[in-house]
Amino acid sequence: MRRSCRLPILLLACLLSPGAGAGWLHRDAAIMGTSVSVELWTDDSARGEGLADRVMAEMRRIDTLMSTWKPDSELSSVNRLAAQQPVPVSPELFRLIHRALEYSEITHGAFDITYASAGYLYDFRQGRHPSRAQLAATVPDINWHFVELDAAHSTVHFLHKGVRIDLGGIAKGYAVDRCIDLLLQAGVQDALVSAGGDSRVIGNHRDHPWNVGIRDPRNHDGLVSVVPLENAAISTSGDYERFFEENGVRYHHIIDPGTGDSARRLHSASIIAGHATDTDALSTSVFVLGVEKGLQLINSLPDTEAILVDNEGRLHYSDGLEPAKQ
Ligand code: ADP
Ligand code: MG
Repeated sequence: MRRSCRLPILLLACLLSPGAGAGWLHRDAAIMGTSVSVELWTDDSARGEGLADRVMAEMRRIDTLMSTWKPDSELSSVNRLAAQQPVPVSPELFRLIHRALEYSEITHGAFDITYASAGYLYDFRQGRHPSRAQLAATVPDINWHFVELDAAHSTVHFLHKGVRIDLGGIAKGYAVDRCIDLLLQAGVQDALVSAGGDSRVIGNHRDHPWNVGIRDPRNHDGLVSVVPLENAAISTSGDYERFFEENGVRYHHIIDPGTGDSARRLHSASIIAGHATDTDALSTSVFVLGVEKGLQLINSLPDTEAILVDNEGRLHYSDGLEPAKQ
């Protein structure tokens, strides 16, 4: 699968006629193993270009900190050392791991960054998945309780050998939030920042909401829904992003921590809320939980909505969206 064409979000941009020096600025880049983009309205194109540069630099900075693909990232050194001793980490990485563990708590372990203890055995490009024996050996290492954080010393310690962590289910949403904060601080009033399936918008696209499409999980060119957004975030987790099939079984990148196997209750889960860190973690979580438990969780959270496509292609909505679906 080419990661660069994985964006499940299709932006239905409206055409506006900008005044002199003012207009929409759009920038794309391949960062964090995905397609990253920023779109913003600016009155001064040079200033807008400068802001787009800063957004991309921020995405790269977070990738350098949190990638498991880069051996010299801070996260990679945690994975190398934390089973032997507490490893000091930056306050930023500490906070995000802490946040991820909070999501483990509220999802009863459906969201679990230690999924990587078995998850590292998958290679979706090569079409490789762990054998039964490998899963039997590594699934016991999946347990977020094995990650011990010490706030006083800002350290991470794994209480079990074989534990690995991966922030792929939350880091892109976090990066989007950081970039949106940067734009808000610069006074930007209309913008969209996306990293793969995670997006957040500022403003209302000048005169009406931003419209973000949710892709049909089994038809690359189709949409199952178009969501109007104002000052909000949306994330979609799907089984069509990184996958391969073997004997009719689809193996993809969202792992059920209970089994170490790909989660197969849904085809996609889209979550809408204020911040992309939350929608990112929740879309991965709800994808694992399935329709019933997933909607139960989302309906219990304030200002958070969901649109799910189950494994038979049926749509399901959280309570707050029920009136809108007709
Ligand atoms: P994408 O990376 O396509 O935006 P998601 O936000 O749905 O997708 O997250 C999928 C990523 O989350 C995987 O690539 C992996 O890094 C990580 N992940 C997979 N399963 C879990 C899980 N059960 N809990 C936490 N993170 C997970
Ligand atoms: Mg996610």
